[in-house]
Amino acid sequence: MTIARVALDTPLYTLFDYQAAELTAADVGRLVRVPFGRRRRIGVIAEITAASTVETSRLKAVDQVLRDTPALPADILGLLRFSADYYQYPIGQAIMSALPPLLRAKPRGEPARFYSLAAAFEEARLGPIQRRIVDALKAGGAVPVQALRSLAPSAAAALRSLLERGIVQLAPPPLASMPGRAFTAGSAQLNIEQQRAVAEFFETANQSVPALLFGVTGSGKTEVYLQLVARALTHGDQVLILAPEINLTPQLEQRFRQRFPAAEIVFAHSGLSAAARRAQWLAAAEGRADIVIGTRLAVFIPLPRLGLIVVDEEHDSSFKQQERFRYSARDIAVFRAHDRNIPIVLGSATPSLETYYNAKQGRYRLLQLKQRAHADALPARIECIDSRAYKPTDGLSLPLLSALRENLAHGQQSLVFINRRGFAPILWCRACTWAPSCTRCSANMTWHKAQQRLCCHHCGRTLRAPTACPQCGATELTPLGEGSQRVEQALESALPEARVCRVDADSMRSKQRWRAVEIAMRGGQIDILAGTQMLAKGHDFPNLSLVGVVNIDGALLSADFRAAERIFALLVQVTGRAGRAGLPGRALIQTAYPDHPLFEALKANDYASYAESLLEQRQRAGFPPFCHQALIRAEALSLTNALAFLHRFAAFVASLGLPLKIYDAVAARMAKVAGKERAQLLLQAAKRGPLQAALTQARAEFVRTTKDVRWSIDVDPQDF
Ligand code: ADP
Ligand code: ZN
Ligand code: ZN
Repeated sequence: MTIARVALDTPLYTLFDYQAAELTAADVGRLVRVPFGRRRRIGVIAEITAASTVETSRLKAVDQVLRDTPALPADILGLLRFSADYYQYPIGQAIMSALPPLLRAKPRGEPARFYSLAAAFEEARLGPIQRRIVDALKAGGAVPVQALRSLAPSAAAALRSLLERGIVQLAPPPLASMPGRAFTAGSAQLNIEQQRAVAEFFETANQSVPALLFGVTGSGKTEVYLQLVARALTHGDQVLILAPEINLTPQLEQRFRQRFPAAEIVFAHSGLSAAARRAQWLAAAEGRADIVIGTRLAVFIPLPRLGLIVVDEEHDSSFKQQERFRYSARDIAVFRAHDRNIPIVLGSATPSLETYYNAKQGRYRLLQLKQRAHADALPARIECIDSRAYKPTDGLSLPLLSALRENLAHGQQSLVFINRRGFAPILWCRACTWAPSCTRCSANMTWHKAQQRLCCHHCGRTLRAPTACPQCGATELTPLGEGSQRVEQALESALPEARVCRVDADSMRSKQRWRAVEIAMRGGQIDILAGTQMLAKGHDFPNLSLVGVVNIDGALLSADFRAAERIFALLVQVTGRAGRAGLPGRALIQTAYPDHPLFEALKANDYASYAESLLEQRQRAGFPPFCHQALIRAEALSLTNALAFLHRFAAFVASLGLPLKIYDAVAARMAKVAGKERAQLLLQAAKRGPLQAALTQARAEFVRTTKDVRWSIDVDPQDF
C-alpha cells in the first residue's frame, strides 16, 4: 500500500493521508487533486509512506496526480517544512502559499509560448501598446506570452496585429543557460575596496559562511553584486536576488538588464498579474531563468541550478511578513544558502543589529566598503535645526525655509521629508484639547484637508470633519503636527515661485504616476519634492542638493526598542538623496533633540559605532540579538477575554518549567482595531530550543479552545 501525505491549504498543523497506487519517491513535491470534505482540492505530496495512522479502509484515494506541472523540488519542500515549523505556521498553508495562485487553483495552464522580434518596422506606425510590446522584445531573446499580455489589458489584441504584420514571430523557448555563455556587458572597473570585497567573498575556504557587505550609501554595493552575479552566471548557476519593494525602484531592474543582456531575468513581486507570476515561477523552476529578482515571497521560488543568493538592503522591515505566515525572507535565505551549501551576501549601509552582531561574532564574514565609489560624491553635510529655538510654523522653521529659498535661487532641487501622511495627523480643539479618535480603534484620526474628512489609518474608517468642537462647542479646530499636505501648502505659500510636488501613498497610487514625477524631476520641472517614506528609497536625482527632515521626533520617542535603529536607517537613506553626482549635498533635520547621539553618529557618517552603542543597550536590557523572542497576539470582542486567554497561555507555558522569561500580557499599543480588542504576550529565551518547545506544546494545547479569541504566534517579532 502506498500512501501520499498531502499538504492542503487548511489552517491545521498536519498533512493529510490518501491512498495512492503507482506513486514513487520521484512524485514527492507533485501537485495532486484530492477529495476533501465535499469538494476537490489541489495539494502537494509532501511525503510518500507505506503506513498511515489512519485505518486504511477509511483513507480516500488521490484523484489525479498533476504531472504536467513541475513538482516542488525536495530542497524547497524541506525549506517550507523548516519554515512552517520555525514560525509555527500550518504546514499545508505554508507549502501552498509558496505556489503562484494560478497553479494552486487551476494547475493546468496553457503551454508556454514565446515571441521575438521578426522584422524591421517603423516606430511611427505602431500604436502605444504595440510599442510597449516591441520595447519588451527589443532586449532580445524569447519573451513568454504571459509577460507580454500583462503589459496592458489590450495587449493580446496588439500582439495579434503585430503577428499579422510580421513584426513579431513565434520563437522557440529559450534554452537553459550553458556554462561559459557570455552574459556581461560594460562592467565597471572596481576600486580597491570593491575588489577586496569580491576576492574575499570567493575565498574557497569561507564560501559557505554568509557574508555581510556593509557599505556606506554610494559605495558601490550594487556594483559588487553585479560582479558576484557575473561570476555565478559563467558557472551556469542561477542567482536569487531579494530586494525590498523593487516595483518602486526600476533602477535595479535597468542595471541588471543592461549588465546581463543575454541572461533570462525574472522579476517576482506582488504587482504582477497572476499569469505573469505563473510564467515566471515556471521559468525559474524549469531552470530557464538565470536571475530571479524578487521581494520576500521569491525566497521560496524553486531554482534547480541555484548558486548564489543576494539580499539587498537586508535591514529592510519588508522582508518580514507581518501577517499570517510571519516569516523573515532574509533569515530563510540564510538557511536556504546553508542548506544548499552555496554563498550568500547580505548588503546594507545600515545593517540590522541582528546581522551586525552575527558579523561581530564571526558567524558571518564582514566585507566593508567605507568610501563612496565616485571620488567627487561627498556625503551630505548634516545639521540639526533646534526646533525649540526656531519654532516651526506649519511644520517649517525659518532656517529651513531660507535654506530652501537659497537653493531655489541657485537653480537646485530640494526634498522635504515628512515622516507621516495626511494633511495633519490630528485636528484638535485648543480650548478643551478634544481630538477625534476612531471609535473602532484606539488611534487618533488623520485629517485629510482636501476632502475635508477624517480618516483612520488603521481600519480605514472615514468621517466628515466637524467644523466645531463636539465637546465644548468652540468653533475653531486646529491642525496639530505636520502631514504631507499641510507642508506642501506651507511650502507653496512661503515660496510661491517654487514648483512643489507632493509624493506620498495618497498622491502616488500607481507606478506610472511615480515614473512621471521621476521624469519631471530629472527634466528640472520640479523644484521641491515634499513627501513621505516613498522618497527614501534608492532614487538618484543628480540636481538634488538639499534635504530637509521635519517631525522626526515622534519616532525618536517611540517605545519600540528597534526605533533608533530604524530611524537611523531611514535618515541615512533620506539624507543620502542629497548631492550624489559631484554636487555637495546638505541635509537639515528639525528636531527638539539636536544633541541626541543618533544625530551625532549620523553627522559623522558612523553607523558602526552607533550600532555598537545600541548593541550595548540591547545587551543591558536583554533584548535581541541577546535573546530570542516570540509574541503571542490575541484578539477578541472584549479586552478582558483577550487578556484572559493570554493569562491561560502564559500559565501553561510556565507549567512546562522551561528556561523562559514570560512577560505580563498587555493591551497592544493599538489596543483596538476594527472593533476588536487586541492584547499581546511576550516570551523570551536565551536559547531557541526551549522557546520553540514551549511554542509547539502551547500551540497544540490551545488549538481547540479558542472559539471567541483569535490568536497567533509571531516568532522573531519586528513590531510590537
Ligand atoms: P550603493 O549600492 O552602495 O549605494 P551603487 O552601486 O549604486 O552604490 O554605486 C553608486 C554609484 O557609484 C553608481 O552611480 C555607480 O555606477 C558608481 N560606481 C560604483 N562602483 C564604481 C566604480 N568602481 N567606479 C566608478 N563608479 C562606480
Ligand atoms: Zn479605526
Ligand atoms: Zn473643545
